[in-house]
Amino acid sequence: MSSFDILIIGSGFAGASAAYYLSQKPGLKIALVDQENQLGQHASGLNAGLFRQALLDPQVLDWTQESYHHLKNPPADWKEKSIYQASGSLFKDQIQNLKKYSQILSQAQIPHQLLNAKEIQDFFWKTEKDQGPWLFLPQDGIVQTRAYLNNLVQASQSRSVQLKLTWQVKSIKRHQNLWQIKNQTDQSLEGKILINAAGAWAGQLAQASQLQAPPFSIYRRHLFISAQGKKSLKDLPYYWDLEKNLYFRQDPQGLLLCTGDEEAHPPEKAKVEEGIWSALQKNFAQYLPKLDYGKRLQAWACLRTKGPQGKMLVDWDSQVPNFFWIAGLGGHGLSASLGLGKFASQKILTKL
Ligand SMILES: Cc1cc2nc3c(=O)[nH]c(=O)nc-3n(C[C@H](O)[C@H](O)[C@H](O)COP(=O)(O)OP(=O)(O)OC[C@H]3O[C@@H](n4cnc5c(N)ncnc54)[C@H](O)[C@@H]3O)c2cc1C
Repeated sequence: MSSFDILIIGSGFAGASAAYYLSQKPGLKIALVDQENQLGQHASGLNAGLFRQALLDPQVLDWTQESYHHLKNPPADWKEKSIYQASGSLFKDQIQNLKKYSQILSQAQIPHQLLNAKEIQDFFWKTEKDQGPWLFLPQDGIVQTRAYLNNLVQASQSRSVQLKLTWQVKSIKRHQNLWQIKNQTDQSLEGKILINAAGAWAGQLAQASQLQAPPFSIYRRHLFISAQGKKSLKDLPYYWDLEKNLYFRQDPQGLLLCTGDEEAHPPEKAKVEEGIWSALQKNFAQYLPKLDYGKRLQAWACLRTKGPQGKMLVDWDSQVPNFFWIAGLGGHGLSASLGLGKFASQKILTKL
């Protein structure tokens, strides 16, 4: 059996960002395992790629600052450097909610502005009856999500991390003060510290091994790519109506569109439900009638997992020793990724 200092289950942003920081400490032996044969087969490779700082949780907002720093100034250990386009973002919501975001952003000294209808008159999807205001964040933008994930994993591998794909953890056991994980072909690995970063599967995996899991809620969401409409969105901010829960952004093929669907789902690969496209068309026609988009080109669905009280869980387990959770990243795991990975690694390194 191979022995490691740290075993990480799951190579999405939760596992990859922890591996990225933990491997910066020389001499640590780390295994990063994933059930899939390629990186980014679930939420971390399939998300909308929006870097967002309009957040109400000050800790998560703080974590996004570490990601922003790296996206803006790609470090030497990233293979792909041009993965971030600071398009800006524009949020619509009730005025009292926008003011709450604004207050938290001001406290964190993050540039933002409340814009009125006159100030956003260039944004062609606005109708005459929309009076605003809108919240504009110039530093938000669009991330090439797979390239970002690859950067983190490749940099970790160039240090002390062994990546093991097609390695599905079937059981977790504690034996003589070490964690042991076993896969689908009965291969085992052991480690002093175990990190459960298995996304939608994190809770189920723990329970299958008779470990207690905090309550996670798993939801399916669809994303669509359409062809370009009559007017190009190039160089315009991404747009998110928080009240109606729909968003769109530019995409190399045209537009990426989401109608904010949220349906409870078991931890298994999410399939596309055809009715969601009709719902999207209806919602966009009602709330963004001036947005013109071309025919549907692609559709996919993936899972967002929320932790207890809807919050991210980045902490030691309260029942068993040396078991760390990085799970329940919800809809902001890409944005918060590097900050939460750094936070987790600092906590974990105190035990080694
Ligand atoms: C439609 C959609 C759009 C989104 N858009 C954005 C966005 O624009 N901006 C943003 O910040 N966030 C966004 N998110 C949220 C973000 O994608 C997630 O918070 C983040 O990717 C979660 O990362 P994760 O590592 O926890 O999970 P995952 O990416 O799901 O990774 C978990 C990994 O664990 C592996 N695994 C599971 N079980 C096992 C096992 N038994 N053995 C081995 N490996 C296992 C899986 O194969 C998977 O690779 C979006 C999410 C969705 C669903």
